[in-house]
Amino acid sequence: MDVENLKSGNDYHLFISAQEESEALKERFFELYILYTLSKNFNLSLQLNDLFGKTIGFLKDSLKIEDFCFMLIDEESNELKIWNANDVTYEAVKDVTFRLGEGISGIVAQKGEAILIQDVSRDDRFLYYKGKVSDIGSFMSVPLKLSDSKIIGVLNIHKKEINAFRETDKYFFNAIAENVANAIGRGRIYEKVQKESMFDYLTRLHTRKYFIESAHQEHSKVERYGGIFSIIMIDIDHFKYFNDTYGHLLGDKVLKKVALLLEPNVRQGDVVSRYGGEEFAILLPGTDKNGATLSAEKLRNMVEGEIILDIGSRSDRITITAGVASYPEDGKTVEEIIAMADKFLYIGKEMGRNRVINRILNNLSAIDIDEKRISSRYRTALKIAKGTNQIQYIEIKIDDKIWKICTVKDISKTGFKGEIEYDIKADNIYFCKIILGSDVYIPETFSIKVAHVRRIQDNRYQIGAEIADGQDNWKRLFTLLSY
Ligand code: GH3
Ligand code: MG
Ligand code: MG
Repeated sequence: MDVENLKSGNDYHLFISAQEESEALKERFFELYILYTLSKNFNLSLQLNDLFGKTIGFLKDSLKIEDFCFMLIDEESNELKIWNANDVTYEAVKDVTFRLGEGISGIVAQKGEAILIQDVSRDDRFLYYKGKVSDIGSFMSVPLKLSDSKIIGVLNIHKKEINAFRETDKYFFNAIAENVANAIGRGRIYEKVQKESMFDYLTRLHTRKYFIESAHQEHSKVERYGGIFSIIMIDIDHFKYFNDTYGHLLGDKVLKKVALLLEPNVRQGDVVSRYGGEEFAILLPGTDKNGATLSAEKLRNMVEGEIILDIGSRSDRITITAGVASYPEDGKTVEEIIAMADKFLYIGKEMGRNRVINRILNNLSAIDIDEKRISSRYRTALKIAKGTNQIQYIEIKIDDKIWKICTVKDISKTGFKGEIEYDIKADNIYFCKIILGSDVYIPETFSIKVAHVRRIQDNRYQIGAEIADGQDNWKRLFTLLSY
């Protein structure tokens, strides 16, 4: 068809509208394409930082928009704050905030409807970002709405010229804003989940997952560049007793107290974590076994001295037992080192708790270490024959206040014979324990039934006792004593 001919005829209008229609279709296609790419890209990006960069790139490169600004509602202050913008705008407006209802952005954030102003000089509501940007002719603000209609902020686009937008631009930018809003929403959920998986909800210490990841990172570093690190495993002593006696809520309080004490008393760079229920693990990068043992001993000492539970007229002390293992001497992998620290911790438990163990002990040589902590009250009582596997002293509970020491003369897997300065009664049942250190006992308790009593001096009696209950505990002592 010849255009000149058409111009002269009635079909001219038809031709123009056909051309316009095809332009409109092209634009529509372009817009759909843009939205498709946008949502595809945003679906892939879960981190808010990443999203931040992508929105800027998208507006500048794909849409050739020079001046734009994203503002998000700050949950605490409930005000709009700048999230991102093109460089020049960002520098000018970075500290500007709007209350909901204030300025165009504030109105859009409050009402959730887009506003388009073709000439801002004729609209009193427009505040030029509180006077920070003056060369704006036309302005469009669209709400950032999540799929549940919650408004989280606004997207502003401005142009220096007046009448620079078409009415239909509102719809297009609404669709863009919806995509960005939902991507931000997803990013926020993702970051929240990430954060929650890093911190334990009760103690606010790092989680086991975070600890293991940090340990692996440290391990790769020292394997590649050389170096050392240590791991302390900590377990609260007799925690089940506190829970059972005072309830879970108090148990939780104790966990928090211990956590609060551990965290500030290690070096910066050490990772303190809640490893399990009442177990904690600490990673000490660049620290050798001696250093880590000192650190563990300091923590043990602090817990013992500072965490006291006052319940009514009673007060109970909380203690911890710790195992310390180091790379490379205790293992080549993180798992091996954790297993060793765990093993040392277990030995510490067996030996009476409230102590730090950093090696496998032969012939109960750990008792030598413990002797340094023993008060004079029990100094003479503490005699566990090294090498001979014989228990020499057992404490027998006479009543609530009195405990008497029995010197053991002979011992078997079912009982013992000994001497005691107390007129103990035959056929009675008594509660017993074996002393390892000052107020530190082998925890496995047992009862005895006194089989016979014979007076050998004024106030000295020879007794024969059978284990009445806790037989297994008693037998386990033999294994324990043969370390
Ligand atoms: P040991 O000295 O041998 O470590 O004795 P224990 O009683 O501490 O050892 P055990 O492992 O038998 O008990 C651990 C208890 O810790 C079991 C459970 O009742 C308690 N526990 C674990 N996680 C939590 C928690 O989150 N809150 C509370 N209150 N208690 C917990
Ligand atoms: Mg435990
Ligand atoms: Mg425990």
